[in-house]
Amino acid sequence: MLPLPVLEQAAAELVCYGESGMSVMEMSHRSPDYEAIIKDAEVKLRVLMNIPDSYKVLFLQGGASTQFAAVPLNLIGRTGKADYIVSGQFSGKAFKEAQKLGFDVVCAASTKEDNFAFVPTVSKDMIRPDASYVHLCFNNTIYGTKFPYIPDTGDIPLVADMSSCILSEPVDVSRFGVIYAGAQKNMAPAGMTLVIVREDLLDYAQEKMPTMLEWKTMAENGSMYNTPPCYSIYMAKLVYEWLLGLGGLEAMAKVNRKKADLLYAYLDGQTYYKAPVRKDSRSMMNVTFVIGNTDLEKAFAAQASACGLKNLKGHRSVGGMRASIYNAMPYEGVEKLIAFMEKFAKENPLP
Ligand SMILES: *Cc1c(COP(=O)(O)O)cnc(C)c1O
Repeated sequence: MLPLPVLEQAAAELVCYGESGMSVMEMSHRSPDYEAIIKDAEVKLRVLMNIPDSYKVLFLQGGASTQFAAVPLNLIGRTGKADYIVSGQFSGKAFKEAQKLGFDVVCAASTKEDNFAFVPTVSKDMIRPDASYVHLCFNNTIYGTKFPYIPDTGDIPLVADMSSCILSEPVDVSRFGVIYAGAQKNMAPAGMTLVIVREDLLDYAQEKMPTMLEWKTMAENGSMYNTPPCYSIYMAKLVYEWLLGLGGLEAMAKVNRKKADLLYAYLDGQTYYKAPVRKDSRSMMNVTFVIGNTDLEKAFAAQASACGLKNLKGHRSVGGMRASIYNAMPYEGVEKLIAFMEKFAKENPLP
């Protein structure tokens, strides 16, 4: 979801942005009007996330999946090897991509054997001391798990895919070497990928690599080496302004905690639905649950959709249900979902 006030503002200035005489969609990315938009987006994100000056903010294309390749291509030159924590589908894909490129990467910890029902407990001794970086996915969108802690990797930079939890709560950026996120889960419409990278990590890129994947080139050109995803960045700026207006990420986190607590409390208080995720690893953004009967789960998703409760079907790889309660989902949305779940359970007893 995107916040309604953001969509309304975008609609109001869709045809003509300010005094520019044109839509943001029509602007040259090198025009003063657009330069102001992208600069403002960065300034506001820096305030929101309290990003230290020693970090660069990049607005790129290609989605989080492109960063699965960009991360090793930019960083593995530090020492020639890297370690991965595999806690779900996307971190597995990131690991495989680095392998595919022929790099010396190992999986330092995984919860695959446990169906990814919780995240691994990672300690320093599990990491190769000469790893260039440690990669993890902070919130596992499909399984509905989240790291309740930031692994201590000492001086080894931690690289985090935060696609599905970015801006959901405050995060200490200084604990990470790189944070990246596709915009479309919690930030803006699809098209933009955010990369926040510590400046000293820009010097290890492979000599032979696509220019478009080189963070340093993008940083030196203010994300404008080529045409950036202009409209998505503009929408992100509106979302940043909306969040600042709410009181920033602390205020947003309070609302998100309240929404997630309500749904988990309901799940814990009944037996019809089961929440597969271990309590200490529960995601605040993606809440997964199952009935344990495929026909009933199919009926659940269909009936929920007919009631205006959309996108509740679990990811095709795991089945069951998943309620993604991102920032823009109001508390009342979760209340409505629970009311529907109660009704459905009553009307559809297990065979
Ligand atoms: C959705 C998602 C991705 C994939 O993002 P794209 O922008 O589609 O490439 C990667 N990682 C996480 C954690 C995601 O939720």
